[in-house]
Amino acid sequence: MQELFTQQPILFLCAAGVLGALVGSFLNVVIHRLPIMMEHAWQDELADAQDKEPAQRERFNLLVPRSRCPHCGHAIGAFENIPIISWLALRGRCSACRGTIAIRYPLIEALTAALFVGCAWQFGPGAAAIAAMAFCATLVALTGIDLDTQLLPDQLTLPLLWLGLLVNLGAMFARLPDAVIGAAAGYLVLWSVYWLFKLVTGREGMGYGDFKLLAALGAWFGWQALPLLLLVSSVVGAILGIAILVVQRKGRHTAIAFGPYLAIAGVITLFFGPQLRQWI
Ligand SMILES: [Zn+2]
Repeated sequence: MQELFTQQPILFLCAAGVLGALVGSFLNVVIHRLPIMMEHAWQDELADAQDKEPAQRERFNLLVPRSRCPHCGHAIGAFENIPIISWLALRGRCSACRGTIAIRYPLIEALTAALFVGCAWQFGPGAAAIAAMAFCATLVALTGIDLDTQLLPDQLTLPLLWLGLLVNLGAMFARLPDAVIGAAAGYLVLWSVYWLFKLVTGREGMGYGDFKLLAALGAWFGWQALPLLLLVSSVVGAILGIAILVVQRKGRHTAIAFGPYLAIAGVITLFFGPQLRQWI
């Protein structure tokens, strides 16, 4: 397979795009369902602590039940579930009730496809491309969930951290000692900022999920990448944050999820890290 893709780079890029669209379709499910699954788990823990019976509910995880139209409950068939294409063919409407299907579903599929093609282009056929795709997919899921719920689930940030350390056993993106220090330092940097901000202003500027996400990025790219990651996420955050505040006309104390900016900085570092560091 690797030989075929090395001889036919266009085929490799196409395969990466198709895989990305399919993974993006699954990420839509993760973004929608993981927060609900977490809430169920919290409710069960609370009931358990209070010696109550856990609530009875239908089996609900990333695989069951099948996706349904939120308006009419129509079960979405295989042909209505083809990434991007189905949404375009149905013009963003449910085939049963003509209710609108949000454009974010095909957008996330297209974004994931584009990121996977970028990984294939940048790293060529091999383990680095696959690792980079897993990295990008996890960041897309984290971004979607953070935008929706202001949460960065441990179920995603911690595996991303472990995976970063594992891929760097062979120094894929950073030397292992740099990756280990990067993970610890990434957590500590934002943890310190958090407490400094809290001591000075009495408010909470970000959440523990942000520390874990920067720790994960440090595990992938080593401690040397942390200044770049913080710089890029702050610049992107400032630009997008101001734009969002202006558009939504909210006060400047409105809580803004920081996770998406860290995720964008992570992707930029994946693709342009060495060049950017040289340039700085
Ligand atoms: Zn419907």
